[in-house]
Order: sequence, then structure tokens, then C-alpha cells
Amino acid sequence: MGVKTPVHSAMPRPTIRRVVGVWLGLWGLCISICLFPAVVYSITKHTIEDVRFHSTDATTRVVIEVDGTVSHAVGRLPQPDRLYIDLPKTALASDWARKQVEVGDGRLRAIRIAQYRNGVVRVVLDLQNWQEYRVFTLRQPYRIIIDLQDNHHTPSTARPSPGSSDFASPSPPSAAPPTIVIDPGHGGKDPGAIGPRGLHEKTVVLQVAKALQQVIRKELPHYRVILTRDQDVYVPLVERAHIAERERAQVFISLHANASRKRDARGIETWYLSFAANERAQETAARENNMSTSQLSDLERILLDLQETDRINQSAILAGMTQNALVDHLSERYGAIPNRGVEGAPFVVLLHTSMPSILVEVAFVSNPLDGKRLRSGQYQQALAQGIFQGVRQFLQHAMVKAE
Ligand SMILES: [Zn+2]
Repeated sequence: MGVKTPVHSAMPRPTIRRVVGVWLGLWGLCISICLFPAVVYSITKHTIEDVRFHSTDATTRVVIEVDGTVSHAVGRLPQPDRLYIDLPKTALASDWARKQVEVGDGRLRAIRIAQYRNGVVRVVLDLQNWQEYRVFTLRQPYRIIIDLQDNHHTPSTARPSPGSSDFASPSPPSAAPPTIVIDPGHGGKDPGAIGPRGLHEKTVVLQVAKALQQVIRKELPHYRVILTRDQDVYVPLVERAHIAERERAQVFISLHANASRKRDARGIETWYLSFAANERAQETAARENNMSTSQLSDLERILLDLQETDRINQSAILAGMTQNALVDHLSERYGAIPNRGVEGAPFVVLLHTSMPSILVEVAFVSNPLDGKRLRSGQYQQALAQGIFQGVRQFLQHAMVKAE
């Protein structure tokens, strides 16, 4: 929300050049004139474009966006507990309005932003309860990221279940078992895509989710498997992500079924969190987010802060493994299934999670053949098996990576 300010154009650089030209040869005078403006110029080299934050159950992320590469210094001050970030050679826009941003999420009370002294902007984080922080930078645009994290996570029994009896089971006192969260899309008042013969996406994906839960419980009995809903109820998108955060899931798998105006469109595609690279990606994201494509830009801005993190890469790997395993498994049993590939798009439900997260469009309810198969329990079982094989491959890969 920061406003761009033409700091550069306000600096007396053109004047310097003119002065140098006119007084060429009068070295002493030239140096005295040239050096002073040069110092002033270097003080405010870059402008703070924006300061923003977003919170998940586990992390508060503060983002300072600058119009170029700057250094930064971090310090901590007691009573009241606060972190400050000093940005040398920067200025706030002259009409910068937000001196303070209220947060109040339990870790961070507020963010204060001020021109601390000439040429140094200071961002102060008024802290509440938190244990750890890390500061790092991202590029294009240049951003300084401050993540505040709890060491101690709220136990999963703290809140009642919105849709799964698994919430009621008490967490073991020591290490929680590894957890997979499956998210059947839509539900309740939101049917999702509707096929020509009245097949509802919300119904099919719930059936596939339950089948997948059974497969994982059988094959990986040491895993907890939690559904974001286990009946035909509406659960808001952000709440679905919060369930995965609260349960500290290793992976988050959102299940959907596709629809197209072209009735012959069919096959499987898997999505992970990224920018909407093209029109089709934007359309799919807008449909699954229940918003118009024009509303995606705010999401995309938040995504800038997330995009280069390891989580996105891990999600892309999970998406690739799941997509390939699912297509292979089904093609062996049902003949060639169109592989529509893996793509990135800004899905709300994926944006608010911090673990590797994907969204699988298992078939097209709008296609007569896909729709017919989707109704059969046998096909749903095959879908669950295929997805499971991809997820298992990813968990093995992640385990190797961690060693
Ligand atoms: Zn959907």
C-alpha cells in the first residue's frame, strides 16, 4: 500500500553535472560542490514501497518491500519487547500515511514505520508471545522478510471438530504422529462443478477423500489422516488451510473435479501454489477460490513473498509425483487417461498452508465418460490408490532429503 515517490528526481544530480561542466578546471570549487550533494544523494537512495504482514496459525510474516537492494540491520529491545529493522539509505514516501499497522495475532501486536533519522527508515515490531524469528531477503521486487514463529504449537484438541472425528483424539504428549490432511473441495451450500447429469463435484471428491483416507490408514498405519470435512458441509477455504496448520500436517491434498465448457475436455491435472501464469490457470484458480479473476491480484502480491521459498518447490515436486502416479495407475486399468500436467496457480486454500500442498483435479464432471466413471466406487478406489502412490513417493523423497 506504499506509494511510490520520485526520490531520485528530487535529488540534485542534474545540477551536479551542470556545475561540473561550468566549473571544469576549478577543481577545489568543483570538489566542494560535488561532494556535498553526492553525500545527500547517497542517504536516500531507495524508497520503502510497502510494509505488510500475513498470519497463519504457526507464523507471522512481515514483509518490507523496497524499490531496490538495500542493506538492513536487526536489533532487539526490551521493555516492551520489540524487534527493529533499520534500513540505511532509504526514505519513506513523502505522503506515507501508515505510521502504525495493528496486527494483534498473539505473536505481533503492531508494526510501526518511521523515518528514524535522515536516510534511515526504521520498522519496529511490537512483540507479544513468540519464540523464534528469522530474517531473510527475496528479490524481484526486493523484500526483507521477518518470520515470527511459535516454538510451542497449540494442541489440536483445543478447538472442536468442524467435520472430522479425528480432531477429538488427544495428541500424544511427546512427538505428534506424522499427519496428512485431505481436503475434499466445496460442500454444503457450495456444490462445486455440476455435471450434465447432475453429478456434484462436492459429492464425488468427498467419496474419493474417504477412499484415500482408508488407503493411507491401511498402507501407512503410523500416519494420522484427517479430512477437512467428512460430510456434506460448507467449510470456508481459509479454515481448511488452518486445519492443516493446526494439525501440523506433513502434506495437504485438496481434491477437486474439473468442469469445462468443452464437453470433450477430460483427464487429470494437479496444481500447486504459484502465480497464475496464463489465462487458464487464472480461470481455474478463480473458480476454486470462488472469486473473479480480477480479484486475484492481491493474492498474487502475497505470493510474491512466498514464491521463492522451499515450500513452493516441495509442492511442485509433490504435484509432479502425484500427477504421474495417478495418471499411470489409472491408465493401466482404464486405458490412456489424458495427462493435463502440473501447473502453478494462486489458490486460496494452498496459500494459507505452510506445508507442501497440492490441489488435484481428478477428472471432469462435465465430460460424459469421466462423469460416468466418477460415479463408480471402483473408479474412486483407483483414484485413491493412484494419489496415494504419488504421496507415498513424496514422503519417501522428503525423508531422504531430511537425512
Ligand atoms: Zn473444485
